Amino acid sequence: MESHVKQVEKMAYMGEMAAGLAHEIKNPLASLVGSIQLLKEELRYDADHRRLMEIVLRETDRLSSLVNDFLFFARPPAGKVEVMHLKEAVEEVIRLFEKDAHHALRCEIQTDLVGDVWVSMDPTHFRQVLWNLLLNAAEAIPDGGSIRIRTTTGRPNAVRVAITDNGCGIPAEVLQSIFDPFFTTKSEGTGLGLSIVHRILESYGSHLDVRTAEWGGTTVSFELHRTPPALKTNGATASASPAKRTHNW
Ligand code: ADP
Ligand code: MG
Repeated sequence: MESHVKQVEKMAYMGEMAAGLAHEIKNPLASLVGSIQLLKEELRYDADHRRLMEIVLRETDRLSSLVNDFLFFARPPAGKVEVMHLKEAVEEVIRLFEKDAHHALRCEIQTDLVGDVWVSMDPTHFRQVLWNLLLNAAEAIPDGGSIRIRTTTGRPNAVRVAITDNGCGIPAEVLQSIFDPFFTTKSEGTGLGLSIVHRILESYGSHLDVRTAEWGGTTVSFELHRTPPALKTNGATASASPAKRTHNW
């Protein structure tokens, strides 16, 4: 029988192969998407062809987010920690989300954010976390649902970011699998969103807390270390880094 070490090595090797393949697919796919977008604008077509073109565009878009999500999960980019003003960082992600994910959004995102709190984090990591959580909330709510982001500073030196939706909730038998890569209950989901969120938060010594009830909505939240205001003008410094970093990104 194969030893455990051999099995782990084999999995790591397969993971590297898959990441290598995804990396090679990324560039040709990006030029494909660009060319198709140009073609769409240049060509004259009848209704049938237009419908086909919409499918080509939609599916290439989907393929490209799958490849990008997978790469972010398999080979997370090296992190560049900055001291961020949390309220501004949240508002920035909401602006981007409302602009780029408006097709998924059925309501306004309400906020209740504490004022002058700073955290030390790579802004790309922060965006990935909040974006994926907002997308799940948006996909869970029916028309007329609501999404709310709150930040609270209950514990000393910590700030909690919570995203609440009043959507479909997560049944108990689904809850145990939501962090598994590729686990999804959606016909067009990649199942990578929460895996990415989990990996990023883990590297900052944090984790995602999930409270949910079927058809009773969901609140997901995570805690970050607060950076003392005295450090906020220093940019990224060793002492401003999160206390516990398990990955070097
Ligand atoms: P995806 O969104 O592509 O399905 P995720 O990893 O982001 O993948 O989420 C995994 C699963 O967790 C989802 O398919 C869904 O079943 C469940 N889930 C996550 N967030 C929510 C939420 N806010 N409300 C209801 N279900 C959720
Ligand atoms: Mg998701």
